Amino acid sequence: MTSDALTSTIEACRTLIETRFPGESRGAAAVLLADGSILTGTSPDFLNASVDLCHEAEPYCAAFRLDQKIVASVCLHRMEEGHFIVLSPCGVCRERLAGHGPDVQVAVADPADATQVRWITLREALPHYWLTALPEEVPEWVS
Ligand SMILES: [Zn+2]
Repeated sequence: MTSDALTSTIEACRTLIETRFPGESRGAAAVLLADGSILTGTSPDFLNASVDLCHEAEPYCAAFRLDQKIVASVCLHRMEEGHFIVLSPCGVCRERLAGHGPDVQVAVADPADATQVRWITLREALPHYWLTALPEEVPEWVS
């Protein structure tokens, strides 16, 4: 994957927020697939907040529907002031990504500036992934 593809993935995420939620403080996610295409997604406002989804859920499920490997994932949230902050994948989403292998690129906030994306591998985001105790289950995680 190229840095242009990663930049395009971030831009697709921002574009979804800007077009679907103009002026609102909202978030969305985007993933880059192995075939080079980009999927975006966002969570509805469910009446019962206990059933809310991560913004990543929609593109993660779509990747499975399309039988495509996810190679990068980003989630952004536009703040009231209009700037976008980077939200790293939550623990559940890291688990959802694990089947795509340890080399998936995940966007995390730069420690010095949360508006800047820093790309790290899923292995870096999950340094002690639980399933490595069963190496036959996840050979790509232990090699
Ligand atoms: Zn999540």
